[in-house]
Amino acid sequence: MAEPLSRIRNIGIIAHIDAGKTTLSERILYYTDNIHRMGEVHEGAAAMDFMPEEQERGITIASSCGTCLWNGEGAGVGDGVVINLIDTPGHVDFTIEVERSLRVLDGAVGVFCAVGGVEPQSETVWRQSEKFGIPKLAFVNKMDRPGADFSMVLDAMRRRLKAVPVPVTIPLGQEESFRGVIDLARMESLAFDDADKGRSVTRAPLTEEEAAYAAPWREKLLEALADVDEGVMEAYLAGEDVPEGAIQAALRAGTLAGAFVPVFAGAALRNIGVQPLLDGVAAYLPSPLDARKASGVDVRTKEPVTIDPDPAGPFSALVFKVFVENGRKLALMRVYAGTVKEGDACRNVTTNEYEKIGRMFRLQAGKREPLDAASAGDIVAVQGLRTVRTGDSLAADSRPVLLENIDAYTPVISLALEPKNTEEGKKLDEALARFCTEDPTLRVAQDEDSGQRLVSGMGELHLEVLLDRMKREHSLAPRAGNPQVLYHETIRKTASGDGEFDRELGGQRHYGCVRAAVAPRERGAGNTITLPGGEAADGRARQLHETLEQGLADALQCGPLGYAVEDVAVTASFCPGKEEGMSGPGCRMAAAMALKNALQEAAPSLLEPIMAVEVAVPESMVGSVISLLNARGGKVETIEDEAGQKMVRGFAPMRELFGFSTALRSATQGRAGMVLRFARLDLA
Ligand code: GDP
Ligand code: MG
Repeated sequence: MAEPLSRIRNIGIIAHIDAGKTTLSERILYYTDNIHRMGEVHEGAAAMDFMPEEQERGITIASSCGTCLWNGEGAGVGDGVVINLIDTPGHVDFTIEVERSLRVLDGAVGVFCAVGGVEPQSETVWRQSEKFGIPKLAFVNKMDRPGADFSMVLDAMRRRLKAVPVPVTIPLGQEESFRGVIDLARMESLAFDDADKGRSVTRAPLTEEEAAYAAPWREKLLEALADVDEGVMEAYLAGEDVPEGAIQAALRAGTLAGAFVPVFAGAALRNIGVQPLLDGVAAYLPSPLDARKASGVDVRTKEPVTIDPDPAGPFSALVFKVFVENGRKLALMRVYAGTVKEGDACRNVTTNEYEKIGRMFRLQAGKREPLDAASAGDIVAVQGLRTVRTGDSLAADSRPVLLENIDAYTPVISLALEPKNTEEGKKLDEALARFCTEDPTLRVAQDEDSGQRLVSGMGELHLEVLLDRMKREHSLAPRAGNPQVLYHETIRKTASGDGEFDRELGGQRHYGCVRAAVAPRERGAGNTITLPGGEAADGRARQLHETLEQGLADALQCGPLGYAVEDVAVTASFCPGKEEGMSGPGCRMAAAMALKNALQEAAPSLLEPIMAVEVAVPESMVGSVISLLNARGGKVETIEDEAGQKMVRGFAPMRELFGFSTALRSATQGRAGMVLRFARLDLA
């Protein structure tokens, strides 16, 4: 059954590894009645973390998705809200997965550990969510742990995230004595009955002591709201009591405007404080109607378009996750516009193939609820899509919008896999095809001569996880080489070259003659291909020019050093007077030869991936981090104070970063947090 858009909340949880994201998701699904048995993470049974190696590593790698209905008393939205909970990956080797899941959500909850505060990875994801303009709430988890400090986390949010935290619930007690929260909007205390895993919540008026503790917090709340709401401002200045309704409205307006972040205190593992957070999700986070509009590119016009969340408009959706389950493909898609039913045709805009929508479901952590239709704002699982891979855009023919640009991924390392025999080779290819469907940042190429499969990805962990899954899910353990840096190449001077191809193939003469000139471009500027006179050509000449352009583009995939060519301006033309006798294949071959000759004369040089490195450490360990980075050819750019720690930022070549996280861990007794991201290509 379709829900009115205003009742849908598509939200994600942003957290550092171990902040408690999985535990919190579990509690949310439990309180909203969708999981009857709570799985604790340490038992490896959590419903949201369903890939075995995630449970083993204790990190959430895939973005899963669960739907639940929340109609807690504080939801303030009539019959409650449907929450689609998208579990964003916590590891930054999977940044693109994080970005993709951020695209499909409308709001997010940042989970911070009350002891660890804002750690580097949650900081990265938080920043990314800012880039997408996603309104957020924060949950300060683990208030029961020794060393828990609510104010420290607020301070870290201000300093490291540049956020304006506005506590809505505050902890009652802390560490071992943490027992509940105070709701500052209503000035009531909330207790959670541990006997039923916190499902029953008891609200009570504040005791005198609690009221005295809460008063300055309430004052701060009203001050923050007065900044964004005139009604609250007037009442506050006049010293009048601000009604709860006005507080709620101001909290919502300020959250949606990105003016501040409502904060909730709790301990998911101890079943404390989760329901007020759910009320906050319903009351303050946007529905698809309030959310920023999706944008993409219309592939017909190449013009950017924004999409209104109109159920009656042309269909547009992003497939943000593809699973292969028992040989069947299941795709999770966010619908941005239009309405589709089972059997409807649409276009896979990314691959330009036709698709048919199969059966649709809402996923409820282990269960599936069949759906007749899906409309703008929905997140649903679909069967039967033949060609889709993660990241593909689906659309009605009348408005083919591409939502995600796959070209933006730059793999930085590769791994050679060698099957023992033909049999294993076949299984390996099947498994790799499946993994590539699920993860477009994974690339596979086959070396014709050696039979090796070359797999490339975004980082060491990315490929480690691939090998793990290969073993576990496909019982495959091909011989694997050491991971290698994925180089690119460029040129350092201008040069030109000719290519002439003339051969009889299958009884037909193929001829082509091309002249190419190449010039270096600025680092990161990309390649350009210019064909003087090509624009004006028509008929057969136009066709030949298109073939020439395609031939050059293909040849740029592998330069004289054997790597993809970057930052080169290519200008090419047919040799004067010889166009008459040219054939398509002849022209392609000549293009490749001319380009190769030109590149060879242009001082071809290796380009290597440079990674941005961010390490957060206690001050006493900054020295060891700097020497570790220096020893690996890194360059430290800034060292800043952030929430009682030092944040060391710099760059280092990927080639020196193998095993860096292990080395860092042992140099700092595990106290450093690290983020590695592809930054740019540089001359090696
Ligand atoms: P994730 O990596 O963010 O998904 O975090 P998990 O949910 O897997 O939790 C990491 C660890 O913290 C697990 O051992 C949890 O049992 C524990 N944990 C989660 N929430 C709490 C909490 O509120 N209090 C305490 N003391 N431990 C918690
Ligand atoms: Mg997890």
